[in-house]
Amino acid sequence: MMVKCTKFTLFLIALFFVNLSFAQRTIIHCGKLIDGKRSKAQDKMTIVVDGDKIVEVRSGFMKPGESDQLLDLSGKTVLPGLMDMHVHVESQTSPNSYIQRFTLNDADVAYRAAKYANITLMSGFTTVRDLGGSGVNISLRDAINNGYAVGPRIYTSGKSIATTGGHADPTNGYRKELSGDPGPKEGVANGPFDARKAVRQRYKNGSDLIKITATAGVLSMAKNGSAPQFMEDELRGIIETANDMGMTVAAHAHGAEGMKRAIRAGVTSIEHGTFMDEETIALMKQHGTWYVPTLLAGKTVADSAKVPGYYPEIVVPKALAIGPQLQDTFSRAYKKGVKIAFGTDAGVFVHGYNAREFNLMVEGGMSEMEAIQAATVNAAMLLGIEDELGSVEKGKKADIIAVEGDPLKDISVLQQVEFVMKGGEVFKNI
Ligand SMILES: [Zn+2]
Repeated sequence: MMVKCTKFTLFLIALFFVNLSFAQRTIIHCGKLIDGKRSKAQDKMTIVVDGDKIVEVRSGFMKPGESDQLLDLSGKTVLPGLMDMHVHVESQTSPNSYIQRFTLNDADVAYRAAKYANITLMSGFTTVRDLGGSGVNISLRDAINNGYAVGPRIYTSGKSIATTGGHADPTNGYRKELSGDPGPKEGVANGPFDARKAVRQRYKNGSDLIKITATAGVLSMAKNGSAPQFMEDELRGIIETANDMGMTVAAHAHGAEGMKRAIRAGVTSIEHGTFMDEETIALMKQHGTWYVPTLLAGKTVADSAKVPGYYPEIVVPKALAIGPQLQDTFSRAYKKGVKIAFGTDAGVFVHGYNAREFNLMVEGGMSEMEAIQAATVNAAMLLGIEDELGSVEKGKKADIIAVEGDPLKDISVLQQVEFVMKGGEVFKNI
């Protein structure tokens, strides 16, 4: 018996070593490496990937072993996978967007969302925070994680939470027979008890985080674009319940009063932040609140509003006023030292153009390196996953992209991503 056991143990040990010698590592030679953390790029670097993880980053071009696979990116700049902290993966702008709420089934939405997710990944965005849709976004996240669809890592809020008639009330603008009286289950909450229930329902549905519409918004069928839409007791109901469940809260906000209430109540991030005043900026710094500017959305809605018939009449004046203001707000917040994470509101413009946001951030006063860090290490911090993602470092997940040229000299090269690896798997290499 003893002999048998020993033989079997030896067999297992042998099997282990055979396996080990066949385990294929990927050796990546990088012409330049922007690792997300250092303030300078490093020339001629090697990244060693084993499975879905980065196991080593070293200077010089390391010679691959016999069983290793070499990826030659020695003519390119290599960066961590980009992270967009504000997308709507279920939808994409068109003059038909408003009527599509009545014509598309969930399955139609899902097929489209799968395509948008694919385009997003191929554009170099390996992680996104999805801030509001119907709930298909939760299924898409799971489909991607389980290999049924190709796309970025999705952290989603599911359906956003609003008040009756608020920006994310799903029946805004409907005639009375259709509008009904949506409640917490549908993401409409009035009063602190509704607020708690709406959050608990999202948790039950599988949301990763909570999105609220703390003020009015541009594209909803309502006149005002910036008024506050939650009372403080409702905000506290949402945030305390979310925090109990380990979820963060992202607040869509245009007007200053709604922002201040949300910041005081403890939201994690302010989205858009259009009419942010000095007092709001000071409050954000005091509370450590993140700012996700979505400059590209501001610019796009202002441009689309000039096309006759593109938006309903009630939306046009809001889009024209709010769009151009964002760029100025971003510059002020940046100069005052507010924590900024990259986010675009993709879906409000065509998916795949997310990297255009970098140009607007640089135009607004950020250095190229700071803009890249907003979309890597800062975004990972906002999601609370900085131990796993956001930089090219030993022990991190292997989410890696590459571009031709030097984004520190010309940020627009990030619009042409040529190589995409997510979790050690190559999805694009041209
Ligand atoms: Zn949005």
